[in-house]
Amino acid sequence: MKLLVRRYTSDLHETPYMAEVILETGAKINIDRANVDAVRADLIIDVPSDKLEQVAEHFRQKGLEVRRLTKLIAWDEERCIHCGACISVCPAHVFTFDQAWTIHLEEGKCIRCDVCIKACPLNALASVD
Ligand code: SF4
Ligand code: SF4
Repeated sequence: MKLLVRRYTSDLHETPYMAEVILETGAKINIDRANVDAVRADLIIDVPSDKLEQVAEHFRQKGLEVRRLTKLIAWDEERCIHCGACISVCPAHVFTFDQAWTIHLEEGKCIRCDVCIKACPLNALASVD
């Protein structure tokens, strides 16, 4: 399950908060995506479902903002023409064709890179907050 972990202030910059939370909780955390600038760092992490609440609480105790991501990518099925362009570009193998050449999504694999959004010729894909 995915969590968005966000920090705003530079005073946490030197704190190895990810390593600390992994050691404290024993959770096998995978970092899907990291966006870092001068004022903010946003991490999208994948956490085993049985550790989700514990991990979220440990990050909060360290002063970080944590939000569960339930929707990762918006797909407008009405617009989609099943061209397969998204299959080619998605690094996480979210999209597949079935035997009838119809697109299917495994949304849980999405790392919110947004590459498919730009690649879709029908604007059938969008990011979600
Ligand atoms: S690129 Fe867009 S139109 Fe093509 S299959 Fe993917 S979602 Fe559908
Ligand atoms: S944003 Fe699109 S391209 Fe990126 S991982 Fe998610 S589904 Fe794949």
